[in-house]
Amino acid sequence: MSDQNPVFIPGPTNIPERLRHAMNVPTFDHRAPDFVDFLAPLLDDLKKVFKTTTGQVVTFPSSGTGGWEAAITNTLSPGDRVLVARFGMFSHRWIDLCERHGLEVDVIECEWGEGAPADLYGAKLAADTDHAIKAVLVTHNETATGVVSDIGAIRRAMDACGHPAMLYADCVSSLASMDFRMDEWGVDLAVSGSQKGFMLTTGMAIVGVSRKALAACETATCPRCYLDFRDMIGANAKGGYPYTPPVQLMRGLRESLDMLLGEGLENVFARHHRIAEGVRRAVSAWGMTLCAKSPNLYSDTVSAIYVPAGFNSDALTELAFEGYGVSFGVGLGEMAGKAFRIGHLGSLTDVMALSGLAAIEMAMKDQGYPITLGSGVAAAQEYYRTTRPGIELRKAA
Ligand SMILES: *Cc1c(COP(=O)(O)O)cnc(C)c1O
Repeated sequence: MSDQNPVFIPGPTNIPERLRHAMNVPTFDHRAPDFVDFLAPLLDDLKKVFKTTTGQVVTFPSSGTGGWEAAITNTLSPGDRVLVARFGMFSHRWIDLCERHGLEVDVIECEWGEGAPADLYGAKLAADTDHAIKAVLVTHNETATGVVSDIGAIRRAMDACGHPAMLYADCVSSLASMDFRMDEWGVDLAVSGSQKGFMLTTGMAIVGVSRKALAACETATCPRCYLDFRDMIGANAKGGYPYTPPVQLMRGLRESLDMLLGEGLENVFARHHRIAEGVRRAVSAWGMTLCAKSPNLYSDTVSAIYVPAGFNSDALTELAFEGYGVSFGVGLGEMAGKAFRIGHLGSLTDVMALSGLAAIEMAMKDQGYPITLGSGVAAAQEYYRTTRPGIELRKAA
């Protein structure tokens, strides 16, 4: 029966019934004349989620990593310099990808649990007076440490020294769950995927591309074929796809957009914030600490939580799975064994979150953690009880 339990991993996330049904459709022809009636509004609605009116959205059958590869190979050339901060496993993997494509990677090393340091980015860019740096890369939400970074601050640091590099944001675990503003923050390439905030199966990379980034495709020489933006945008403009699209997944994406835009993006963000805050109340009731070093860095989609000294977080997540049939995120990279993660994004309610907190408490107790059963759950309950949407209206009535 454990397949009835929600997962608390930060992707792939829980797929709501409505989306599973939406994907259960017969094959339809992506070369039929009516495919454009489906595709064009889908791409338009994706722009609303990225908050761009001037950019375009490109989709590839791939996981999010393919979106990174598309962003890099379409806009850069081997030998180009890129500036990036490393503060977790995902920013680390992005650096690796750039290096393997022959880019010159200028890494700002940060402690894990810190966010992207806008001041250090600014100093490096100001010192780059001949504008050798072509790309500035930032992981908006570092899923390994549960840290959200201020992309707007990076943009301001770039503008303050008039640096013309393009800005790349990994928003795989933030888009459609936390505020993201492609146009306002001047993001040139925004990389996401289908299996996190969009609540779908893995299988689609979703990339926001600015006009400047599109122009860069004309001169960039990194090899690319399958992931070429121009092939995709050209085919999309004619109502098609350059190869076979995952049509069932796209039906799911259609429905996901209807759900997200129907709830209202700001309400989606508020829901994520409230659920996350309840989880954070539980963490502090347990007497544990988050990897994220300060409240302004707390992610509303994932919390990485240090286990007490002498305990191994991998043993905890294993026991939660074996004993209770509930999946939590393991510690990645430097965090292996030291921290576990609670993914709280996508299709989730406060009541579902409470079940996850209760399950991990049982696993903690089984392992002899110094906690009282129900302490974290009670702290979250109290928060959820007193902040439930509409409570002010009901009090007044
Ligand atoms: C999930 C994730 C990715 C992409 O991973 P895939 O497994 O390739 O979909 C990239 N960056 C971050 C921050 C992520 O959370």
